[in-house]
Amino acid sequence: MIEKKVGKGEVAFKVTHCGVCHSDVHQARNDWGNTNYPCVPGHEVVGTVTAIGEGVSKVKVGDIVGVGCMIDSCQKCEYCEADEENYCQGEKGATMTYNGPMIPNGTNTYGGYTTDLIAREEFILKVPGKLEPEYAGPIMCAGITVYSPMRHWDLKEGQTLGVAGIGGLGHMAIQIGKALGAKVTAFTRDADKEEELLEMGADKVVISKDDGQMKQAAGSLDMLINTIPVPHDLEPYINLMKPDGNIVIVGNLVKFPEFSPASLVFKRLSIVGSLIGGIKQTQEILDLCAEKDIRPAIKMIDIKDINEVFENLANGTTEGHFRHVIDMETLRNHEAVRNEDSEKIEDPIRA
Ligand SMILES: [Zn+2]
Ligand SMILES: [Zn+2]
Repeated sequence: MIEKKVGKGEVAFKVTHCGVCHSDVHQARNDWGNTNYPCVPGHEVVGTVTAIGEGVSKVKVGDIVGVGCMIDSCQKCEYCEADEENYCQGEKGATMTYNGPMIPNGTNTYGGYTTDLIAREEFILKVPGKLEPEYAGPIMCAGITVYSPMRHWDLKEGQTLGVAGIGGLGHMAIQIGKALGAKVTAFTRDADKEEELLEMGADKVVISKDDGQMKQAAGSLDMLINTIPVPHDLEPYINLMKPDGNIVIVGNLVKFPEFSPASLVFKRLSIVGSLIGGIKQTQEILDLCAEKDIRPAIKMIDIKDINEVFENLANGTTEGHFRHVIDMETLRNHEAVRNEDSEKIEDPIRA
């Protein structure tokens, strides 16, 4: 039983839900060339506390908790001290929830596509009572990824926020930007999405492949959260910015085509990047989503459908912008069936 293994300062929980992130697909398939097999993906993990180790005070048995993208860090560098464990500059950096082969003792870490998980208390998040557990997972990845830059670069009430690319990250950015009091313009290639995006809370929708609409929106944004995951021309987006604006890159990690720095110079613009967020901010965004009724669009799935979901994510054939969330009860049921089957197989031998 897992309860016996909980160490000092650790929390064990029974996993009830785990969100499926696009990075799970990349990691499982070794797209980044750094996967350590066996690999168990999942960094949007939610469950019920089953045991706590000595000294744990943050949660108690029965609480609903979550673990996001990180599961450990040095806890003493200046970034950890500033609640920005995601930028830990300790010897090993932050340890990712899966495929983070650094701690403990250089062994691999295994993520949330499982029945039970143990994490140190500092990386445990509390799922607020007002937030249904199935929605918490995507907030700890997509939600924090767009919320953290809004806080860091101080998006103010009444300012104009642009959101480019409306997928898992973008649809959270629209809702969170609104909750922080910004005016939100959504940029999408897909004219069919307009009504849906307005319903989601966007004040305005601009079809990004329509040059006329893009021109009209020129000079209108204080901040742009750019979630587009593939290389694309930045120039049209640079033109959207007001002086002193920030273009925040959270999607594309590959390459941008050349662009002229002239508009950066003439408008004192910044092109910046941002990676998830620290634990304190992740808790903040969970609480904010609970309070302001912000929910990611989700679709619950059975664990047996995971390969199909991966296939669709890899091929870009997933319909809609929702996040898949695995109902982990289905994994427990499959395990139970498997155990029954193996007993059946043994029966003739005993007989
Ligand atoms: Zn993720
Ligand atoms: Zn650190």
